[in-house]
Amino acid sequence: MFGRKIKLFTLFGFEVSIDASWIIIVVLVTWSLAVGFFPSYYPRLDVPTYWAMAAVGALGLFASIIFHEFWHSVVARRMGLPMRGITLFLFGGVSEMTEEPRSARTELWMAAAGPFSSILLGFAFWGVYRWGDSVGWPAPVLGVTAYLAFINFILAAFNLLPAFPLDGGRIIRSLLWRWKKDLTWATRIAASLGAIIGAILIGLGLLNMLAGALVGGLWYLVIGIFLRSAAQSSYRQVVVRQRLQGERVRDLMVRDPVTVAPDLLLTEFVEDFIYKHHHDMYPVLDNGRLVGAVRIKDVRTVPREERGWRKVADVLSPFTAELVLPPDMDLGEALDRMTTSGNSRFLVVEEGRLAGLITLKDVSTAVSVRLQLES
Ligand SMILES: [Zn+2]
Repeated sequence: MFGRKIKLFTLFGFEVSIDASWIIIVVLVTWSLAVGFFPSYYPRLDVPTYWAMAAVGALGLFASIIFHEFWHSVVARRMGLPMRGITLFLFGGVSEMTEEPRSARTELWMAAAGPFSSILLGFAFWGVYRWGDSVGWPAPVLGVTAYLAFINFILAAFNLLPAFPLDGGRIIRSLLWRWKKDLTWATRIAASLGAIIGAILIGLGLLNMLAGALVGGLWYLVIGIFLRSAAQSSYRQVVVRQRLQGERVRDLMVRDPVTVAPDLLLTEFVEDFIYKHHHDMYPVLDNGRLVGAVRIKDVRTVPREERGWRKVADVLSPFTAELVLPPDMDLGEALDRMTTSGNSRFLVVEEGRLAGLITLKDVSTAVSVRLQLES
C-alpha cells in the first residue's frame, strides 16, 4: 500500500510482513492506550503500569489482526486461491491474494472468515476476563484482557462495514455477484457504498473536530479518506483486469527492443543509448545470447571519471527471474507483477531467448485506450 514492506516471520506457510506505516500506528495506539484508555477505566494505577499495559495491549492488537488475516488466508487457500502472505498496514491487514476470487461463493466464505474469527477471539478474551475476575487477577492484567476482548469486537465491526474493499463490502459484492452474475457491476455498487461510507466518516470526523474532539475526529477523517481511496482503486483494479482478460504479454510486448553489447563502454552507453532512447533498462546481448540487463541505476554505481574505461559487463544485472516475464503470461497478472515488484520494465524471454520487452507504460496505455473507446 505505502510501499516499504518489512518481513517479520512465516506462519504456517504464510509470510507475515508489516508496512512501514504500521509503525506509526503502533506508536499511536500504545500512546493513546497509555494516556487515555487505561487511565480512564483503571484510575489509581501508576504511570509505568499504564505504559506496560499499553505495550501488551498494542502487541495483543497486533496478534489479533494477524489472527484475523490468518483465517482469511486459510479459507482462501482451502478454496484453491494462492495466497502470498499477510501484510499489516494502516488500520489493519491485507491478505495478499495473487488473483481475485473465482466465484461468488469463494469470496463470501473468504470475506466472512476474518470477522467471524475476530468475534470468536473476542468472546474467548471476554471469557478469560470473566474467569480472571472471579479468581482475583490483578487489575492491570484484567484491564489488558478486557481491552483485547473489546478490540476484537471492534475489529469485527469495523471490517463488517458494508464498504468495499473491507470484508463487509466484499460480502455484499459476493451476494450481488451471485445475484446478477456480473462481477464488474457488483464491484461498482460495492465500491460506491465504500465511497459513501468513507464520505460519512469524513463528515463525522469534521463534526467531531469542530466540537472539540480533535483526536477522535482525526481518526474518523483519516479512516474515511483511506476508505474512499481504497474503494476507488480496487474498483479500478477490477475494471482494468477485466479489460485485459484473455490478453497475453506477447500481444503488447515490443518485439525488437534496443539492446546493448556487454563490451560497450559506459560513457558510450550513456551517450548513444540512455540520452537517445530514454529507456531505463536495456537487455544485454552477447552475440545474440541474453546475459542480463543494464539499468540507469547500475551506471550510477560507477563514479563519472571511471565510466570512460568501465564496461556494461561490469555493472549489468545478471539474467534472473525477477527481470523476466513469460510471453504467455496473462496481462492482468503481468500488471500485478509490475506493481508489486516496483519494476516497470521486464524482459520477455522464451526458451532462453529474448523475445521482447514489456513496460508498465505499454500496459497502462493499452488499458486507457480500451476504456476511452467504451466511454
Ligand atoms: Zn478482514
